[in-house]
Amino acid sequence: MTVHDAAIIGAGFGGIGAAIQLHRLGLHDLVILERESDLGGTWHVNRYPGLAVDIPSSTYSYSFAPNPYWSRLYAPGAELKQYAAHVADTYDVRRHMRFDTVVDGAEWDEDGQHWTVRIAGGERLRARMLLTATGFLSQPRMPDIEGIESFAGTVIHTTRWDDDIDLDGRRAAVIGTGATAVQLIPEIAPQLAELTVYQRTAIWVTPKQDGAVPERLQRLYARVPLTQRVVRTVGSGILEAIMVSGVLRYRQAKVLNRGVEKLALRHLRRQVHDPETRRKLTPDYSFGCKRPTFSNTYFPTFNRPNVRLETTPIARIEPDGIVTTDGARTQIDTLVLATGFNLWDANFPAFEVVGRGGKDLGRFWREGRFQAYEGVAVPGFPNFISLNSPYSYSGLSYFTTIESQMKHMERLIGEMQRRGAATFEVTERANTAFLDRMTGNLEDSVFVHGSCATSRSYYFNQHGEATLLRPTSTINAFREAGSFPLDDYAYA
Ligand code: NAP
Repeated sequence: MTVHDAAIIGAGFGGIGAAIQLHRLGLHDLVILERESDLGGTWHVNRYPGLAVDIPSSTYSYSFAPNPYWSRLYAPGAELKQYAAHVADTYDVRRHMRFDTVVDGAEWDEDGQHWTVRIAGGERLRARMLLTATGFLSQPRMPDIEGIESFAGTVIHTTRWDDDIDLDGRRAAVIGTGATAVQLIPEIAPQLAELTVYQRTAIWVTPKQDGAVPERLQRLYARVPLTQRVVRTVGSGILEAIMVSGVLRYRQAKVLNRGVEKLALRHLRRQVHDPETRRKLTPDYSFGCKRPTFSNTYFPTFNRPNVRLETTPIARIEPDGIVTTDGARTQIDTLVLATGFNLWDANFPAFEVVGRGGKDLGRFWREGRFQAYEGVAVPGFPNFISLNSPYSYSGLSYFTTIESQMKHMERLIGEMQRRGAATFEVTERANTAFLDRMTGNLEDSVFVHGSCATSRSYYFNQHGEATLLRPTSTINAFREAGSFPLDDYAYA
């Protein structure tokens, strides 16, 4: 059986970036396995009304493949999907992709020095390297609410949007008020007869400086790419201050964090008329404990006569309604689940990964501590790069995450090639030192110093540790990706 140079699992922006990097390293026998029917990852799966990027597009894109033609400062979701296709074609990585291919598991074969990847249906394939790019938010969470299966109307999770659904005149409920709901609710509310929004935890929302990008500016970006690079640098700098410094360096930059809270509260005061609704929409935890978002249209939706915010917990769902714990019943015919994703039980890793000596990655993480050297490598797992790991996510954007990981791959695989080695594996010593350093860095963060107890944030794992974000600056992540000690890995 052929042994491919590498198997990449996932054809989203992570998998595309990894394939581009492997090409640059001279590795062309790749296979990219994708569960969905097309590339684009989250931007293929999510098609709900209002879907848009909520990080400025000049920042939310590969720095080496700028797109001068984003129609808005925050591009609509469909443009992200087109951009993914454009980059995959430009860098000629689409030819490696196999769609509708669900990976069940992967196991390191010590004798053959390769990974065996198990595909649903029984097929097996082999590759010298395994790279998982399965995303952070790819396993939808279905709420465990009594009676939900008895609901007789339409049920729709935001990741499985039905383009043909006609919402006109319906009585709907949306469960959840995360970043997805914040985009969706203002779009669907005007069509509905009634909308009840079930909020368990309020979200921090700051103003969104959005707008169309005039064509002449797009032409300027295309003609003089430096101009767009300047915009990217400024936008990234602002985001880094808010999302990274204010959150991860909370102890030092509390003033910044409090400033953003004040901005968000003023936004709420200006946009929502009813004081009781305002009170309910006010988060009771520090900014940054959970993923905040940006919107100018979410809050005003609660001024509409057909929209109601419900904060009494849901007791059960009946065939034609939702009953809250105070006994009140709301009749509905459509139930929208904006209930997010399961990260820590179902997505780290997204399928069974078994390394040397039968070491099971999921068990190692869940029964021990979530950890990955520089957010990419785990001892006991040779020739394995896990792009969606604990401590891998740069709070700034998914693209700074993947690009720093591409840089790490360049240094690591380049060294393996220079040595003529067949395998790499991170050492226990380097992994432990990195974990200790990240644990120490978290001491400065809002997760430790802020008030996060009520936030119910997916940044925290089931052990109560905030192990998703890399608690360093983005610059530090890039610097280390290009300079980590080469002997942090063993080569053979
Ligand atoms: P999310 O942030 O995890 O929000 C899920 C929501 O559902 C929360 O409000 C949660 O309440 C609620 N929920 C879950 N189970 C529930 C239950 N059993 N009963 C009542 N409420 C329940 O998910 P999301 O909104 O889909 O967003 C996920 C992430 O995707 C975002 O944080 C963001 O990173 C990303 N995103 C990005 C964009 C973009 O434009 N770039 C757009 C959308 C989403 P609790 O908070 O109380 O748990």
